[in-house]
Amino acid sequence: MKIICIGRNYIDHAKELGNSIPNEPLFFLKPETAIQPKKHPFFIPHFSSEIHYEVELVIRIGKAGKHIEEKFAHKYYSQIGLGIDFTARDIQEECKVKGLPWEKSKGFDGSAQISNTFINKSDLEINNISFTLKRNGEIVQYGNSSEMIFHFDKIISYLSKFYSLKIGDLIYTGTPSGVGKIEKGDILNGFIGKQEMFKVVVK
Ligand code: ZN
Repeated sequence: MKIICIGRNYIDHAKELGNSIPNEPLFFLKPETAIQPKKHPFFIPHFSSEIHYEVELVIRIGKAGKHIEEKFAHKYYSQIGLGIDFTARDIQEECKVKGLPWEKSKGFDGSAQISNTFINKSDLEINNISFTLKRNGEIVQYGNSSEMIFHFDKIISYLSKFYSLKIGDLIYTGTPSGVGKIEKGDILNGFIGKQEMFKVVVK
């Protein structure tokens, strides 16, 4: 199983970090060990003093494929979940300045929060999925799949040119604006529409 993450897929988020708008999907990987065990707290790692939350819609691949045409991409996933791409922003900034890969800041243990449940695509309006992240009860991020620069089918088609996609692979599809720093004691709740998808305590 692999975890592929899309960066800068919402214009407002690219702008808030001072990045340009990409003309093709930007992606990076997290290892399988990044998955946060279910109902486990998130422990702030010792190597960072600035961990950010990034709430993202997550596609679970349901059919193996390679070189998938965009018009057939919808056949390769049937479920959508929600996750957090936890990011050591201080380390990512260092990597960016030095022109180094981001994995050190993105792939650490626990960096991939994933919802307990996934929603069948057929139960969602795929181009109009709203999702939110609450921090200590307050909405800090709000997004809608209609605002994505590269939509699910485009992402799957593009990624499959480089990587074979396998059943169970997860694709984090990018975060909207509003990313921010977490502190010990925070409680983060993620929602698709009104349905709570996960709750994580920061320690
Ligand atoms: Zn992200």
